[in-house]
Amino acid sequence: MTLQNNDSRGNLKTMVERQIARRGITDQNVLHAMQTVPRDAFIPEDESNLAFEDTAVRIAEGQTVSQPYIVAKMAELAELTSSDTVLEVGTGSGYGAAVLGRIAKHVYSIERHASLAANARQTLARLGYANVTIVEGDGTYGLPEQAPFDAIVVTAAAPTIVLQLQQQLTEGGRLIIPVGTADSQELLQIRRTSEDSFTTTSFGAVRFVPLIGDFGWQGNNNVPP
Ligand code: SAM
Repeated sequence: MTLQNNDSRGNLKTMVERQIARRGITDQNVLHAMQTVPRDAFIPEDESNLAFEDTAVRIAEGQTVSQPYIVAKMAELAELTSSDTVLEVGTGSGYGAAVLGRIAKHVYSIERHASLAANARQTLARLGYANVTIVEGDGTYGLPEQAPFDAIVVTAAAPTIVLQLQQQLTEGGRLIIPVGTADSQELLQIRRTSEDSFTTTSFGAVRFVPLIGDFGWQGNNNVPP
């Protein structure tokens, strides 16, 4: 399914050992996924020297591919199994969706920029990720027609927990979302424990590009809703 040359394989192994396992990620499914998805295939050519580095990488539309450790941390917090249906909000390059797709049964990923959605769709098709569906639109609405989801992973920063998303979780489902100001956010795991109750756990400070949409930041000026 996934195309990898020897260089890519060696670089991924080193990336996972040094940046991910060493920092405390223990979920074997996540470690395996991070080692098999070729991050370099999702990185623009002029940034290819950063493909396996411990950093976010710029892509088109002023967006980024998240740092490998953060992708792994969010996937671990999503507590995925092979029977799970997952929603990702913020496709970007499609890299995170591919990682989630290596673990879960099916991943729906929404992107607000048409050009990024089209590009990610193309990359994922070329690499053979048949269980990842890219949708163009405002992900702050979630994807009610495919809900409920066992996990929802939001890869852009929201001003508040997005209620529309938490309502689309299964009972026991997990919403992983960075919440805070434009400059600094906390990574939250929200678990739906019953029809109308949720628990929230914080996993420390993170920094993401803004979640822009009707139930996120409004427009490009980061005006709170
Ligand atoms: N997961 C991505 C990857 O692996 O390349 C990284 C995502 S990047 C940090 C965040 C993405 O969220 C950007 O591509 C941005 O356009 C997108 N985004 C922001 N607000 C959104 C919204 N309301 N709906 C869908 N996508 C959104």
